[in-house]
Amino acid sequence: MLYINGEWKPSITGNTIEVFNPATGKLIDKVAAGGREETIEAIESAKAAFKKWKKAPAQERGMYLAQISAKMREKADEIAETITLEMGKPLPDAKREVLGAINYVDWYGEEAKRVYGETIPASQPDKQLMVLRQPIGVTAAITPWNFPASMITRKIAPAIAAGCTVVLKPAPSTSISAIKVFECFHEAGLPKGVANLILGPAEEIGPELTQHPDVRKLTFTGSTAVGKKLLRDSADTVKKVSMELGGHAPLIVFEDADIDAAVKGVLLTKFKNSGQTCISTNRVYVAESIANAFSQKLAQKVSGLKVGDGIENGIDIGPLINERALEKVESHVEDALQHNGEILCGGKRYVDNVPNGHFYEPTVINYANDDMKIAREETFGPVAPIFTFKDEEEIVKRANHDRYGLAAYCFTKDLGRGHRMMQELEYGIVGINDPAPIVTQAPFGGMKESGMGREGGKSGIMEYLEEKFVSIHTG
Ligand code: ADP
Repeated sequence: MLYINGEWKPSITGNTIEVFNPATGKLIDKVAAGGREETIEAIESAKAAFKKWKKAPAQERGMYLAQISAKMREKADEIAETITLEMGKPLPDAKREVLGAINYVDWYGEEAKRVYGETIPASQPDKQLMVLRQPIGVTAAITPWNFPASMITRKIAPAIAAGCTVVLKPAPSTSISAIKVFECFHEAGLPKGVANLILGPAEEIGPELTQHPDVRKLTFTGSTAVGKKLLRDSADTVKKVSMELGGHAPLIVFEDADIDAAVKGVLLTKFKNSGQTCISTNRVYVAESIANAFSQKLAQKVSGLKVGDGIENGIDIGPLINERALEKVESHVEDALQHNGEILCGGKRYVDNVPNGHFYEPTVINYANDDMKIAREETFGPVAPIFTFKDEEEIVKRANHDRYGLAAYCFTKDLGRGHRMMQELEYGIVGINDPAPIVTQAPFGGMKESGMGREGGKSGIMEYLEEKFVSIHTG
């Protein structure tokens, strides 16, 4: 069902989207697929709701967010299970995602109360200068399937905390997770029109969201190619935009690193979510002198990862989202082999007991080099290529990607080196001896073609606010 102006509605045409379980290939359900007309209706309802919502006291907006948080906590298991069925991540990871999604709701519920303005010293005695921070208006949010709940709240929570109203278009393959999150909005009593949900095909909904003059802000998480198109399409109406796009994270292991910690770092940053995150490690760079020891240890750990349907107990690696994703991973591995890579473990589709699932074996490739596709393109799958390097100067140059700049990781016990890497890595997020540098209260976002704008933290709410300068002549 679509959710427009506080009501659940079928689509006008009766069209539906089929949602499949990537672990079994089975149809989970069919959901209503809206199009142009419903999108316009949702934008109009968000516009009407904005008139009141922008004036609601921050405490009141915060209170609604607290109620949403409570509802999401109540339904956390149900939402997590839906995530696992729709996109395959192991159930405990899905639960962690839902708790992370709730953190955004909690944090921005509080932050709503701290949208302060400013006064500025004037240059003459009879003037008073001020900056107001006001909600920008109707916001279009487009989210991907890899974090079907937390990507929604990371956008909608700060938007509605700031006083904006929203129309969300989630990824079709995770439509039911989006419905579950919106059920929480509905049951929390969020005023009608403040958050609207349009499920359906991107080709129909996208153009309305980008070209409608009443949409003043577009926030997107997804691939760089689609992000560029949305940027171009939003140009005619000069919308404020935030873009969380692709990445190609390096993970650098210096000869002085704690090897076990670095191996764990690769397991976490490369194999969680089956490698399907924009901050996933894509290139593991290991100092030449420790490369052999490191790759053996890593391959041993990776071959112990359990592949299977994420709804079962003890699974580390769930399926990839679809056949196209599998084909991309296969092509990267084939290309690596053609360029003299050596497979230490994995290296093919996984089919044991899951004949209709989209599984790929967790894979480690040794002797990776810069001629391989995997050295430049996002794999979005469970494949860790190991490159070697000689010194710090060389690795800084190679680690900085010409196009991407989202996340980078570095393992070293040398404090000075850690500081130098922090300065030199051209990435929006840098983890030094930390493979999990993502928290609600800190800005998440990329440089270069990895995007613009930040989500999370203080910056995350600023994306939905407009600064208005007021100069009063008091004389
Ligand atoms: P992925 O390949 O991981 O699905 P995409 O960037 O294609 O990543 O998709 C991310 C989100 O963007 C999804 O909700 C998808 O439906 C949406 N999307 C894709 N193409 C367009 C488009 N042309 N206009 C608007 N939204 C789009």
